[in-house]
Amino acid sequence: MNKTDVRYIKGVGPGNAALLEKIGIRTVEEMFAYLPFRTEDRRNYVSARELTALLPSDDSFFVAGTVKKITGGKSPYKRAQVIEIIIEDKAKTGNIRLLAFKNRVKYILAVLETGQEVAVYGKVELLAEGLTLNNFDFEIIKPGDNSLSFFRMTPVYRLTKGISSKRFRRWMWNALEKYAEAAEEFIPEAVRKRLALPPRAEIFRNAHFPDSLEAQAASYRRIKFEEFFVFECAIAYNRARIKKTKKPLTYKLKKNLLTPWKESLPFVFTSGQKKAINDIFRDMLSPYPMNRLLQGDVGCGKTVVAASAAVLAKENLYQTAILAPTQTLAEQHFKTFSALLKESRVRTVLLTGGMKKEDRKKTLEEISAGKADIVIGTHALLQENVKFKNLSLIIIDEQQRFGVHQKAALSAKGRAPDILVLTATPIPRALSLALFGDLDRSEIRSLPPGRKKVETIHGNSQEAYELIRRQIEAGFQAFVVYPCIEENETQEDYSAKAAHKYLSEEVFPDYKVTLLHGRMSPAAKNAAMEKFSSGKTDILVSTTVIEVGVDIPRATVMLIENAQMYGLGTLHQLRGRIGRGGEKSYCIVTSPGADALATQRISYFLKSSDGFELAEKDLELRGAGQYFGTAQHGLMDISFNYNKTLEEKFPHLSDIAILNEARQEAFPLIKNDPGLLKNKTLKTRIMERFSEGFNLAKVS
Ligand code: ADP
Ligand code: MG
Repeated sequence: MNKTDVRYIKGVGPGNAALLEKIGIRTVEEMFAYLPFRTEDRRNYVSARELTALLPSDDSFFVAGTVKKITGGKSPYKRAQVIEIIIEDKAKTGNIRLLAFKNRVKYILAVLETGQEVAVYGKVELLAEGLTLNNFDFEIIKPGDNSLSFFRMTPVYRLTKGISSKRFRRWMWNALEKYAEAAEEFIPEAVRKRLALPPRAEIFRNAHFPDSLEAQAASYRRIKFEEFFVFECAIAYNRARIKKTKKPLTYKLKKNLLTPWKESLPFVFTSGQKKAINDIFRDMLSPYPMNRLLQGDVGCGKTVVAASAAVLAKENLYQTAILAPTQTLAEQHFKTFSALLKESRVRTVLLTGGMKKEDRKKTLEEISAGKADIVIGTHALLQENVKFKNLSLIIIDEQQRFGVHQKAALSAKGRAPDILVLTATPIPRALSLALFGDLDRSEIRSLPPGRKKVETIHGNSQEAYELIRRQIEAGFQAFVVYPCIEENETQEDYSAKAAHKYLSEEVFPDYKVTLLHGRMSPAAKNAAMEKFSSGKTDILVSTTVIEVGVDIPRATVMLIENAQMYGLGTLHQLRGRIGRGGEKSYCIVTSPGADALATQRISYFLKSSDGFELAEKDLELRGAGQYFGTAQHGLMDISFNYNKTLEEKFPHLSDIAILNEARQEAFPLIKNDPGLLKNKTLKTRIMERFSEGFNLAKVS
């Protein structure tokens, strides 16, 4: 990778480098990866006559000509700071009129003179006064200049204050001139040939300054492929490595703890749970480390399956670590595990960042002495001073929140420990294999018997308030979910803060209403959650921060406002927070102004409560061409970033096709060359990716 600091790009320097860092560009490689969000065809200009025939049109046009007249500027009417510029087009077919306002006036008067040749791009109107542009990009044409903004396909970037498009294009051009050729190829030739991928030395030039949109599309395809390919190779490499290592610890199924524990449970396992436990035990008893993903909808009973694995570990006198994505969830797991295992001789401890010093010290000692059998915690578990006596099993809750590297860090605390990953995020089949190809998979598709379905209703806020009132009067609690934390001009109806004020003062002054959102301090978040889970608060108004795993059995109603703004995955996860106590529960969604696609999404949501089915539908709808507003330069951090939602990672269905191509190429490659001895550059790439992502501060 080209790690050259951007400051060394011709024209950049230290001052501009600081500006570039604001948009996440520090190195040449990152500069190249900053793809335009749009590319405008400014190859050929049109004449005034041609324009007249093409109008009216919403398109922008490129016109070129000679400045004939500049008037205005020092307007006699003080408030109107306008200048009018008349240009005659190059083919001399007519005049074109430019209007410039306010802050542009001074600059234009300073640089523009009659007789100059100019290139102009913008929307054109046909007014009584003639062909007019009042919002335009322009450049003075000097013979011999290599314009980067005109007479070509022109990239348009999302930039920050202080960086103009023109300067950025120049820097990009200079960077490409100097470094693009040297971009190191790392995709084997056979793969490139098979998939008709352009060579690496060409792709960045064609991504930024393409000769045609087709050439650009080919580069984009390769850029995505590269990203996925390195990711899939890493997965394949990892899998091959794990399958080779023998575990130093061995297991026996003694049943001296398992049998009495199982008999102490107030229920029998569902068939899905039995099958999952079988898979897991088989892995644990095998000589190779387990690396398994347990997928199952919220409430299907994954916890007790995980607990069975921990009891098997304890039977063999080994320790288990359970890693949760948040403090709240760690505490909740601690309670659940302690309750589930209270009839057994398994000792469970909690280790979190917020503990008192002495408690922490004591807990750390218990862990290193092997007195603690199950250690539950957050990222705090990954810290160096956490030492286990004989860690053999790692359970990770919610795959989405942890990267490969965190898993590696935790693994290093044991000797080739077994790893079990739990996730309630249903992933469409087409994706699951590609994303989790390094893991074996178990799925629980059925819920325990007697579970009541959450009744989902499409309604309005007033109806919802009445239902909430009835449920609270009956002794239950309610969630109200909003898409945004704060108001801004465009989204005033969507803010949790405003809703909290309105609901607590106007609608439910007689109830306790608490606010929870992502920008609160962790302590404040915990306090809010604690109030709600202990029943001190009746209504929790929140953003989607409640999405992950919170268990409040008394919460029987949820109002999701502006449901049109969420993907099906998020809606499903949100709904999973209620109906967990066996009481009849209700989810009400509102969707003012939903477009056709959102309406369809919501109709699926009303019909189905099966997460896997909804995930498939989500993907199907996304294939209908909806672009989920992700900037294209976001492409580059797809890999290893489990914090992104599926929508963010895969705005287009075609991306998934490329991901699968990458997988199909990566696995055979690693199979034939497991140590990547014949593909050294690729190996370096993979290793760089591994170590780069290994930054805990980046997570959460
Ligand atoms: P998950 O973690 O998969 O969302 P949990 O493990 O929290 O689900 O289980 C949800 C609830 O179902 C818990 O209260 C648990 O005790 C209960 N449960 C689990 N398995 C069974 C079963 N086989 N029969 C009845 N209830 C069960
Ligand atoms: Mg759970």
